[in-house]
Amino acid sequence: MDSLTGLAWTNRFADLGPDFFTELPAQGLPDPHWVAQSPDCAQLLGLPADWTARPGALAAMSGNAPWPGMRPLASVYSGHQFGVWAGQLGDGRALWLGEVDTPAGPQELQLKGAGLTPYSRRGDGRAVLRSSIREFLCSEAMAALGVPTTRALCITGSRLPVIRETVETAAVVTRVAPSFIRFGHFEHFAHHDQLDALRRLANWFIAHHAPECADAPEPAVALLRKVSLQTADLIAHWQSVGFCHGVMNTDNMSMLGLTLDYGPFGFMDGFDPGHVCNHSDDRGRYAYARQPAVAFWNLHALAQALLPLLPIETEKDAESSTERLLEAVEGYRERFASQMLVRLRAKLGLEGEDTGDQALADDFLKLMAASRADFTQSFRRLSCAITAPGPLRDLFIDREAVDAWLTRWRARTTVGAEARMLAVNPAVVLRNHLAEGAIRAAQDGDFGEIARLLKVLGRPFDEPELPRDAALPPDWASTLEVSCSS
Ligand code: AMP
Ligand code: MG
Repeated sequence: MDSLTGLAWTNRFADLGPDFFTELPAQGLPDPHWVAQSPDCAQLLGLPADWTARPGALAAMSGNAPWPGMRPLASVYSGHQFGVWAGQLGDGRALWLGEVDTPAGPQELQLKGAGLTPYSRRGDGRAVLRSSIREFLCSEAMAALGVPTTRALCITGSRLPVIRETVETAAVVTRVAPSFIRFGHFEHFAHHDQLDALRRLANWFIAHHAPECADAPEPAVALLRKVSLQTADLIAHWQSVGFCHGVMNTDNMSMLGLTLDYGPFGFMDGFDPGHVCNHSDDRGRYAYARQPAVAFWNLHALAQALLPLLPIETEKDAESSTERLLEAVEGYRERFASQMLVRLRAKLGLEGEDTGDQALADDFLKLMAASRADFTQSFRRLSCAITAPGPLRDLFIDREAVDAWLTRWRARTTVGAEARMLAVNPAVVLRNHLAEGAIRAAQDGDFGEIARLLKVLGRPFDEPELPRDAALPPDWASTLEVSCSS
C-alpha cells in the first residue's frame, strides 16, 4: 500500500451520530489537474514531500476516489447572517474526510467544492477557481503571519463550467484544521430544541478541543469564556494586520478562534476604518472598524445557544444562568482591548507600558485614516523611520502633523525598535491585486504565479525579492470588487 493511503485516519466527529451529519460521497471533478499545493501544510500533516506525485493523490483531493479510511460527511449547522436568524445552513459544499493524526494533534481535512450535499439549499455545491485560489493563498498567508486560521493543503481544478456572475471553472480546495466546528453548530441544536444533541455536542467539543473546561463547575460557561478570549485574540490580530473578513456571520465563526471561511475578505490598502471589503455588504455591517463589535455580538448568539445547558427551570434560575453566561462573554471586551494594545505597542516598537501608549497609537491611526495612508506600508515604513523618515512621510498629506507625531514617538522608542518592528510589521500581505494577478494567470492555465506568491507570502516579514510584491497597489486595484459569489 502506498504510504499516502497508510495515513492513520480517524473521525471523532462521526462518533456524534446521525443527528449531526449526513454521510455521502464527494462529487468529483471531471478530468482533474493540480493547481497548487502548500508544502508547509503537507509537512504539518506528515505527508511526504512528493505526495502530489503519488498514485491516488489527485483523485482523492479532487473528490474522485477517497483513500481508505476517509469517511466523507457533511455536517448540519444554522446561524445568524447579517444579524438575522437564517435557519438551517450546513456544509453546502464542504465534505469532512476525517482526521489525520499529526505531531501537532489530529487535523481534520475537508474538501470544499466537491458537490451537492443535503445542505446545499439553492447552491450547486461547487467552488470556482478564483475563490479557491483566494482561500488557498490567504489561509497560508495568515498562518505565516501568525494569525490563527484554517490551513489549505492544495487546490485541484477542472474544466467543469460553474455559473456565477459569469461562467467560471470548478475547483476543490482541501482545507485543514483541528476542528471546523462553528458557533452555528451549537445554535442549530439550541434553536431546534434538540437539547440532548446540544448537550452531546458540548460534551464532545469540550472532551476533544477544550478539555480544561471539563472540570469547571459549569463546563458550558467555561467553554464560552474560553471561546470569548480566543475570539478576542483573533480579532485583535485581524485588526493589527488590516484584515477584513467580510462575512462575519455566526456560521463562519470558529469555536477554536480560527479565521474560517474565506470569501470576500480583504487586506486594506489605504487605511479607512469604515472599509467594507464585501461588495454585497451594502450597509457596511462587517466594515473593518465594526469587526470587534460584531464578534462580541456573535458571542452573545453563542451564549444564547449554550443557555439551555444551564439551569433554567425557574425564572430565577434562568436569570442567574444568563448572568453567568453574559459575564463569560464580557471577558471578550477587556481581552480585546488589552490584546489590541499589546499588538499596537509591538507595531510601534514600544517596550514596557506607558499610559500614553494607547493615545500614541490612536493618533497614528488617525493620521493614517486622514491621508488614507496604506495600512501595511505605514507600519512597515514606520519601522525604519528613526533613521529614515522620508518614505513614511511620503504616505501622508499633512507632513507637519506626521513630524509632530514622530517627535512624540521617538521620545518613547528604545534601542532595537527597528528590528523588533520589522519582525511584526509585514512587508507582504495578500493584497487583492496580488491575488488577482495569480487568478488571471491561472485562468490562462499558468499556475506558476500561485506557487511564487505562496512562497513570498510564507515569509511576510522579509523584504520580497520583487519590490512590487510589497509595493502600493496599482491604480487598477481600486476597481476590484469582491462579492459573496464564490
Ligand atoms: P458562506 O456565507 O459563504 O460561508 O455560506 C453560507 C452557506 O451557504 C453555507 O452553509 C455554505 O455551505 C452555503 N453555500 C455557499 N456557497 C454554496 C454553493 N455554491 N453550493 C452550496 N452551498 C453553498
Ligand atoms: Mg460559511
